[in-house]
This record gives sequence, C-alpha cells and structure tokens, in this order.
Amino acid sequence: MRLRSSSALASLALLCAACAQRAPERQIVDDAAAALGGRDRILAVKTLVIEGDGKNGNLGQDLTPEATTEAFVLSGYKRAIDVAGRRVRLEQTRTPNFAYFQGMAPQKQVQGLDGDVAYTVAPNGAATRAANTVAKDRKAELYHHPLTIVRAALDPAAKLANPRTAGNERVVDVTTADGAQLTLAIDGTTKLPSRVVSMSDNTNLGDVAIETSFADYQDAGGLKLPSRLTTKTDNYTTAEIHIARQTVDADTGDLAAPAAAKAAPAIAGPAPATVTAEELAKGVWLLGGQSHHSVVVEFADHLTLIEAPQNDVRTLAVIAKARTLRPEKPLTQVVNTHHHFDHSGGIRAAVSEGLTVVTHKGNAAFYQSAVGRAHTIAPDALAKNTKPLKIETVDQELTLKDAMHTVVLYPIADNKHSDTMLMAYLPQEKILVEVDLFSPGSAAQPYAASLLEDIRRRNLKVDRIVPLHGAIAPFAELVKAAAN
Ligand SMILES: [Zn+2]
Repeated sequence: MRLRSSSALASLALLCAACAQRAPERQIVDDAAAALGGRDRILAVKTLVIEGDGKNGNLGQDLTPEATTEAFVLSGYKRAIDVAGRRVRLEQTRTPNFAYFQGMAPQKQVQGLDGDVAYTVAPNGAATRAANTVAKDRKAELYHHPLTIVRAALDPAAKLANPRTAGNERVVDVTTADGAQLTLAIDGTTKLPSRVVSMSDNTNLGDVAIETSFADYQDAGGLKLPSRLTTKTDNYTTAEIHIARQTVDADTGDLAAPAAAKAAPAIAGPAPATVTAEELAKGVWLLGGQSHHSVVVEFADHLTLIEAPQNDVRTLAVIAKARTLRPEKPLTQVVNTHHHFDHSGGIRAAVSEGLTVVTHKGNAAFYQSAVGRAHTIAPDALAKNTKPLKIETVDQELTLKDAMHTVVLYPIADNKHSDTMLMAYLPQEKILVEVDLFSPGSAAQPYAASLLEDIRRRNLKVDRIVPLHGAIAPFAELVKAAAN
C-alpha cells in the first residue's frame, strides 16, 4: 500500500511539473488567447461581423508579371462569420482603378462558405457552387483571423507542433480539428497574433503561401481584434482591409449556402476539355470549343501553336489535337500572347511536352521562375515530368518564316491591358491573332482602340481578326469597336 501510494505521489509531482512548465507550442497559443481577451471569452464567441473598406490586388492580371499597381477599390466590405458553425459570407463592392475588361462600373460581390459548399451569388441573385479547391481555400481563410485561429488552436482536438522563434515572433503550426493546416505567429512582445499562413496550390505559381497579417488592434466586445488585415498570395498582395466596425455576437443574417449552390454537384477539378479544329486557311487552324482558344500554323517541317491557356487539362488537350492535324510534323513551339494567368496557365504543360516558349521579353524571368517552382500540393504535368525551359523572346518583333508560312509577332505598344503582350500577324492570309484587346461580343472594349492604332501604325493589311476569346470578326468590327 505504502509503495503504491508513494508512486502515485511521484506521478502527481511529475504531472504538476508538466503543468507548471507548459509545452512551448501550448504556451504560444495560451499567450495569444490571454492577449486577445482570455480563453473563456474567446470560446464564448458565436459570431463576428467585420465591416470596412480596402482594396483587392489583381493577381495574375496586372500589367507585367511583377506589377502590383492595379487594384479593385473596395467599399461596403462586410464579412459575417459564424465562428462555431464555421460558415462565412462576404459582401463587397469593388471598383477597378484601372481599365478593366468588364468596364469601370462598380461590381457587387457576394461569396461564402457553408460546410463543404463554397458559393458565389451574382448581382441578379443567381447562386453558383464554386470548385472544391475554392472551398478548401475558403476553409483555410476562415482561420486567417486571430479569433478563429486561436479558438481553433484551443480546441483539444487541434494538433500543435513545431514551436519556434522567428525574429520577434513566436510561431507554431496548427492542425485544426477539421483538418486545416495553418501556421500562427504571435508578436513576441504583445503576444497578439501577427500572422496566419496556409499553403495552397496555384495553377501558375504552384505551392503558394497565403498569409494574412494583423495590425492596429482595437477593443471590441471584450476582445482585442485587429482593424487592419493584409493578405498576400506568394509575394502578391491580394487584399488590404481596413475595418471600421467589428461586432462580436452580432446577428449575421442567414449564412446558409443558397439552395441552388447546395444542390449543385461538387466540382472536383477543371471541366474536361473540348477542343474543336477549324481550318481558317491552308495550314492555319483555330482550336476552339470553350472559353480560351489557340491557333496552329503549319510550317515546312514543324507546327507552331499560339497560346497554351488556362491549365494542364486545356493545354494538353489542345496540344494533342494540334498533333493530329499534320501527324508527320512535330509540334515544336508555343507562342504566348501575354503573362495573364488564364493565358499562361498551360505554359508548364507545354514545357512538359517539349515545346519552346516564344514570348515577350518582359515575361522571360517570370516563366523561368514558373517552370522551376514546386508543385507538390497538386503535382502537374511538369512536376511529374520535369524539363528545363526553352525560351525565345520577342523585343521589337520576331518573324517566324519559311517557304510555307510567315507569322510576324509584334509587341502591342501602350495598351492598358498588359505591357508584355504579343499579337501574331499572318500577312499571306491577312489574319491577325490577338487576345483580350478585342473580344467580339463583349460589352466593354476598353483596349480596342490601342489595338487598331497599332495595326495602323504598322500598316498591317488585316481582313480577319482571330481572337482567342469570342468569334472571328472582320476587320471592320474592330474599327467599329474602337470608335465606341
Ligand atoms: Zn489578359
């Protein structure tokens, strides 16, 4: 009896030593909770509504691959979070501060997450379900706030790991009870959360860190909460939010996903590609079928593709179709119109298929980097079949020419869509291949005038515009669009 009792006492002593000297990963979370207003207050919170203004960056669509000057100015920003139920709804109105392809009018945006269902609601009230990848990012984004991440980290079912010091920060990795993986950093002095980071897959950039940093803490509902949130994807700032009002346990309204979105099937990946081939002239084909088109030109001993758009699914299907057009000739190169992510999302796939990339010189460093980036979260064709980048850049102009065909690649000067943009002119056929500057059928044509000016300045004889969005149009339609 005495022996057993003394061994019980010994274990009790050990236990107390452990509780007095808390595990360092637990200490970081407890310090953060205390700084925010205390564990009990945090766990009691049911909802949080934050309202303010700010701006969104134009990720992957700015003037150059490195530029970050274009932005959507935000008003009426309202983010309603059901903290316990892990549901969220964001409403905002965004106004482009640049010549946006849809025009300069303010756009109301509504998007949310309810369980596994991510959704958007269009201005006309129509709700659509977003892809599973979007739902996954929004689930992680729910924890990109001090209240939600610390609350999740206090959950006994959360896993805390890898406590460390980085500069003046204490940092810990958190796996939440629902499986989200995040990194929480707290200020070494104030103990307030300074940043949350999660990893995501980006088609163009590969494995990216999405980081939200917190500043200007204020008192709100018995808590300290930040009034400035800055979010970056990789090195690009995607959101800067200034919070004017934050209300703890406010009425959030209905945060359930709209019925149409809830009833829609889950979207597990990009839609399968449909590639049509239309011969525009002998040895010149338009590969269409969906939103982003490509063109194939036949040379004496090879084929050239213009545009590797969107993603692996689209570009690999386009490449496969191109190879059927003249099976005896190898497809050797792809001309890239510009760096915008929807037009360069297939560059890595093209490289994996051995194609040389021909692009504006302003894109060279970006593609060099893109081809070398890690894609471990969602391995793509190039990650599975690594190849170096073969690249040819265009400065003033570049003529691809042999006995069979001539294609002249021109940079398009002074357009407000992209500074690293090429158009392809086929003088024999009087065809001009371009994208985004003139998209027949589009309500706004903010760049048509600059395209027309460039065509006239170079004295090109154009019969047909072959856009990589929309239907083929006679030259007169461009003239008309440019006049409006
Ligand atoms: Zn574009």
